[in-house]
Amino acid sequence: MQAVILAGGKGTRLQSLLKGKPKCLAPIGQKTILEHQIIEITKSNIQNILIICCYESQQVINHINQIKDNYKSLNISVFVEDYPGGTGGALAAALNKLNKDFLLIMGDLFISLNLPKIYNFGRKCDSDALLVCKYTDHPEDSDLIGLMANNYVKNFFLRDENRNQIMHNKIPPIGNSGVFYFKKEFIKTFCTELCDIHQIIFSSLSNKVKLPRINYFFTAEFIKDLGSVERLSEVNKLNLLPYQMDSRIKSPAIFLDKDNTIIKDPKDKNPRNIKIDLFNRRLINLLVKLNKTHRIFITTNQPGIAKGFFKEDDLVNHLFTLGSHLFSENINISGFYFCPHHPQKGFENEIKELKISCNCRKPNPGMCEKISSEFNIEFEKSFVIGDSIRDFQLAKNMNIKFINALQL
Ligand SMILES: [Mg+2]
Ligand SMILES: [Zn+2]
Repeated sequence: MQAVILAGGKGTRLQSLLKGKPKCLAPIGQKTILEHQIIEITKSNIQNILIICCYESQQVINHINQIKDNYKSLNISVFVEDYPGGTGGALAAALNKLNKDFLLIMGDLFISLNLPKIYNFGRKCDSDALLVCKYTDHPEDSDLIGLMANNYVKNFFLRDENRNQIMHNKIPPIGNSGVFYFKKEFIKTFCTELCDIHQIIFSSLSNKVKLPRINYFFTAEFIKDLGSVERLSEVNKLNLLPYQMDSRIKSPAIFLDKDNTIIKDPKDKNPRNIKIDLFNRRLINLLVKLNKTHRIFITTNQPGIAKGFFKEDDLVNHLFTLGSHLFSENINISGFYFCPHHPQKGFENEIKELKISCNCRKPNPGMCEKISSEFNIEFEKSFVIGDSIRDFQLAKNMNIKFINALQL
């Protein structure tokens, strides 16, 4: 597994602090951002790091020479760009140094991430490019991603495009985090010697000759970009072991029902027509408290998909929109899980393959089992929160506690 760090940035907005140093050498506590990234990569058991630098490259090389003895298990190589070719141009210039597939980390990120999980997910999806995305509290200067079912990226909205229109329209504030999985072939096909990788992703989504497979990986794990003085000082105020939702760390879970639990039971189940109404303030307050110790997962039965009442894409958009409402209430959802199946046949537009008795329709435990295969869950302290007999039964089947949302 190879991790590539793009450390070529100057950090124009940080220069009042950096005083001539490149952005990747910005300090967090006693260390630089770059060293924090190297530590994180070491924790992930990744052995190969390629650091691509450009602006003040000699300073970066000197820094690496100073610290590399502390990370003896790592094979660190450095590639120096001849001229600033942009984020995509840098990768194109370093093409011969890239593995067949690799993780890319922007040099201005402070992260605590399960990197192998992202790498393996990219491989599992056979992605040409996989974008790690998360809710952002600064959508106005982030690239936003439009999501579809099955982890496909529908659109990529560049930060300089007409942001207001996007924000007040249909898409939730899900930002591109600056961590990626790429196939080398993607870089080779689309990147020129002078280009921006975000621009390339944006334009490749409408490429008529060769449409790449572009997926997303949603995460609630810890990723902070330090692009501005305010954000850098924010991170410096954090404890150096900040509270993390890093998926490697064991923590209890809340399996949270949706309809009639977080939002009013919609009469019209078509997600396009559901107005999000967080009616249950007591539940919201409880979730805010619990989120300090528990990961929260939405788990919902959505038989309307099998019945042909609505499309998975619309449901995915609805779930992530709901998540953004919760995010603005300080509730960070770690994942969205739904069962699209339904056992009985006889609906006009039904989808045959989904008309099955499955293991994921609540009260069956399939969704909880899937979550537990993807996260490190401590079941003893986990519980189900819901409103129906199915939720109650699910808790029973999982042998965990049940909280009736309507009796809070
Ligand atoms: Mg319900
Ligand atoms: Zn199912």
